[in-house]
Amino acid sequence: MVLETLLGVVIVTSFALLGYRFKAFDLKGIIAGLILVYFVLFSTGLRWVLIVLAFVIVGSLFTKFGKNKKRLAIKDSVYFTRSWRNVLGNGMVPAIFSGLEMVSSIYKVDGSLFVIAFGSSLATACADTLATEIGLLSKEKPRYVLNPKKYAIPGSSGGITGLGTLASLLGSSIIALVFIFVRIMDSSLAIFLALLFSGFLGSLVDSILGQTLQFKGLCSICNEEIENKIHHKNKAKRIKGIEVIDNNVVNLLAGFFGAIFGIVIYLLLR
Ligand SMILES: [Zn+2]
Repeated sequence: MVLETLLGVVIVTSFALLGYRFKAFDLKGIIAGLILVYFVLFSTGLRWVLIVLAFVIVGSLFTKFGKNKKRLAIKDSVYFTRSWRNVLGNGMVPAIFSGLEMVSSIYKVDGSLFVIAFGSSLATACADTLATEIGLLSKEKPRYVLNPKKYAIPGSSGGITGLGTLASLLGSSIIALVFIFVRIMDSSLAIFLALLFSGFLGSLVDSILGQTLQFKGLCSICNEEIENKIHHKNKAKRIKGIEVIDNNVVNLLAGFFGAIFGIVIYLLLR
């Protein structure tokens, strides 16, 4: 156990240095990530961390993949580097369920639903990340998930493409496979399917919330529709959505939905 934790510290710290070196994260992003991943390591152990790392590695690689082509579509150089808000948006929910599993094992209660919720929220994060990052490379114009006749700006929340939708299944299947592979629970088809579909559905909820609740503003200087409150050092005028709900808050909410989907699907199938 001590050896496993030590090995975990070495692995996590090495990946953090790599992530910073290759600008996958900025400094605050790395610190936020380290806090969350160490929390998972000390509450539930190395095998849980390996699932988180699978998401971080796959997500970072696909974010860098086709960077030049994506640059033309989004024109935002910091897009490719994750901030602490991005990290918390994707990592808070899995960390909470990891903590809940630790608490349930202290009180000797069955925590298997927390384990499923942990995997499902990560499956959602991975599905959503790949849907965005691979979807951006699609030749097809994104359409709004709740209004498919209307085209969305590439990379903006709420827009989906066929390629991105397939990619979200790829993202959740990667997490489902790693989850089965590290055996933090007795593996079964029910667990695999719960993670696969919860990730897919969670990422769909992400798009729906992105289209409905998420803040969208208009920059008075460049006249572009934007998702950040500040553009060109100027406060954007709200077009729609709720001021405090940005993409990271949407990711956080989608992670919770993904966790609930995972629990429900698991209970139905097991
Ligand atoms: Zn602007």
